[in-house]
Amino acid sequence: MHNEFEPACRRMEWLDPFYKAVWEKAFEKAIPISGTFELTPRCNFNCRMCYVHLKNDEIPHYGRELTAKEWLRIAEEAKQAGTTWLCITGGEPILHPEFPEIWEKLSQMGFFLTLQSNASLISGKIADLLEKYPPRRVKVTLYGADDDIYESVCGVKNGFSRVNDGIHTLMSLGIPVSLVSTIIRQNQEAVQKMAYYAYRHRLQWVPTTRVRASLRGGDTDVTGLRVNEMQEKHRCKEIQRRIREKDFFDPKRKPCTYCKDYRVGYWVLWDGNMRFCSFLDKPDISVRELSFQEAWKQLLVYEEALEWPDQCKECSAKNVCFKCIATLATESGSIDRVPEKHCNAIRNLYEKNKGKVNEDEL
Ligand code: SF4
Ligand code: SF4
Repeated sequence: MHNEFEPACRRMEWLDPFYKAVWEKAFEKAIPISGTFELTPRCNFNCRMCYVHLKNDEIPHYGRELTAKEWLRIAEEAKQAGTTWLCITGGEPILHPEFPEIWEKLSQMGFFLTLQSNASLISGKIADLLEKYPPRRVKVTLYGADDDIYESVCGVKNGFSRVNDGIHTLMSLGIPVSLVSTIIRQNQEAVQKMAYYAYRHRLQWVPTTRVRASLRGGDTDVTGLRVNEMQEKHRCKEIQRRIREKDFFDPKRKPCTYCKDYRVGYWVLWDGNMRFCSFLDKPDISVRELSFQEAWKQLLVYEEALEWPDQCKECSAKNVCFKCIATLATESGSIDRVPEKHCNAIRNLYEKNKGKVNEDEL
């Protein structure tokens, strides 16, 4: 039963207490209060670690982008179903051929809009549009602090200069900006510079070393990207903390129940499929064919039925392995399998640390 578990929104410390109460209510009633519309897989950058981006000629092989008319029909029904927070992302969402129309109408519908963008196209008419219909926040992906790093990570010339201009334009319009960065080998030397950039501009900055292989057609070669030492260190510390604090994982608890979107959130991907996570290639619940409400109902049924792969049920590390079903799937290639190499590493770490309960032993 879903309600045996603490809704993840209780751990969202950044959420205003009033909104937290709203999220709790939504959780209780399974109201889709928070959505993400992934408008397009197009992008003017070609980042090495991107799991969404497709070149224009690859798109028809995977699906068809929704039109403005289709997005706005879905948005209208989502609003009726209770969606209040809406994140607009991509690829680079501004590159959807009908972005201005979609943005203007979504804004007029009264959603709390967040725009996730690489910021390089925020100038001219797009800046005017955002000035007229401002989002609550623009989350900018920052992948370096100079043009050379951008060329190496995103495969474009003058990338940082363009992103920096876009960020300054947003700030001059009084639109709140925050930064998110994926740290890979090609930009790890620039971490301090990125942190300083955020500090100097007084912007919130969230870095991550998580890089996921694409199940959806992006050609990410994760092995050449990952900052392995950082990930290994983090994993080891997390297992040690769990043993020390007896903060064990409940293997009976279902996969989706750990996700902040469980019973309250969804993604609609660029091809019209509704999923609980954008990393996955399942389930295929098409909002192009179904009403939003019907798609949401089917997504809830799918989430309740989803189980951990069989190997997890027998695993010696099942109580300390804090896992995410989507991450496992991106590593193993399927939502039904575990990545053996990763699992052996977790079990070895657990075996090495399980007798050590005092902090100074760990
Ligand atoms: S800017 Fe974002 S969407 Fe574009 S390629 Fe890079 S990670 Fe992908
Ligand atoms: S180590 Fe692998 S098999 Fe074991 S619980 Fe974690 S993900 Fe499952």
